[in-house]
Amino acid sequence: HAKQLGKNQFSMYTESMKVNTHNSIKAEDDLSQALKNQEFVLYYQPQFDLHTNHIIGAEALIRWNHPEKGLIYPNEFIPVAEKTGQIVELGHWVIETGIAYLAERKEAGLSDILLHINLASKQLADPYFVCHVEKLLIQYQVPARQLGFEITETDILEDIELAKSLLKSLKKMGVCIAIDDFGTGYSSLAQLKNLPVDLLKIDRNFIKDITEDENDRNIVEAIIAMAHKLNIKVLTEGIETRQQWQMLADFQCNFGQGFYVSRAVAAEAFNKTLPTIHHNEEN
Ligand code: C2E
Ligand code: MG
Ligand code: MG
Ligand code: MG
Repeated sequence: HAKQLGKNQFSMYTESMKVNTHNSIKAEDDLSQALKNQEFVLYYQPQFDLHTNHIIGAEALIRWNHPEKGLIYPNEFIPVAEKTGQIVELGHWVIETGIAYLAERKEAGLSDILLHINLASKQLADPYFVCHVEKLLIQYQVPARQLGFEITETDILEDIELAKSLLKSLKKMGVCIAIDDFGTGYSSLAQLKNLPVDLLKIDRNFIKDITEDENDRNIVEAIIAMAHKLNIKVLTEGIETRQQWQMLADFQCNFGQGFYVSRAVAAEAFNKTLPTIHHNEEN
């Protein structure tokens, strides 16, 4: 409804609508220029098993290395790319770069990791999506089990039938499926139970105050227990402290990622990430 509200507001204010249109046209040009000039970079944030402390994978997070403005974060340009449809092309770039990185790691003798890539709703509707992914995996000789996609519950619910058939095809290929930002939308686990989901990612907002807020703690504990009943593993994003890590491990949460261990870093730095984390006692 936010979108609708936004439209109505703009129709009342012709001046701001003009400005807005102008800005997004410019942004559209900038994005295609940036793609041509190869200004986008993938950063990688490690994901860990909360019980063994071993690295299990990474999430690929896009950044725009702007020649004048420096590093720009995805919240500033992904929404524009979604609006203009450029997200499909940008998404292709992300998938190819991610898969190429997995091949590079293999070549360099680095450990096998599961790489999670974020998908936008427009990519779900791309009829060539599955074929494209399949081709890239063959081209780079990367096994499908090393690739995962993160999709938000909101995007899935936009067209659940479409999402279901896409997820089924990906699953058949052997790709992992994760539900991103779980808990922020309006879905319930009941709605997701018919989808081939491997992993639930609990949104960072539920974790932030988990050591002080009993309600958040109960919600998180309940989500983990329910997901496990449905044979779905759980990862929490946004772990910033040792205490949060410990509490989530006690709740039997399987995996985690967050600034406590590492921010997303460029490939060269990620290659140096230790296979096991050693907890710093002061933290
Ligand atoms: P997301 O998929 O939920 O990614 C997690 C975000 O939380 C990332 O922000 C990550 O850097 C941040 N984060 C991780 N750990 C912590 C922590 O401990 N504390 C805090 N405060 N933040 C943490 P980032 O990289 O700015 O990405 C924002 C969003 O942009 C992502 O949210 C995702 O929705 C979108 N995005 C990023 N890369 C892509 C992409 O390649 N394609 C698409 N379609 N969307 C992307
Ligand atoms: Mg994500
Ligand atoms: Mg997320
Ligand atoms: Mg999030």
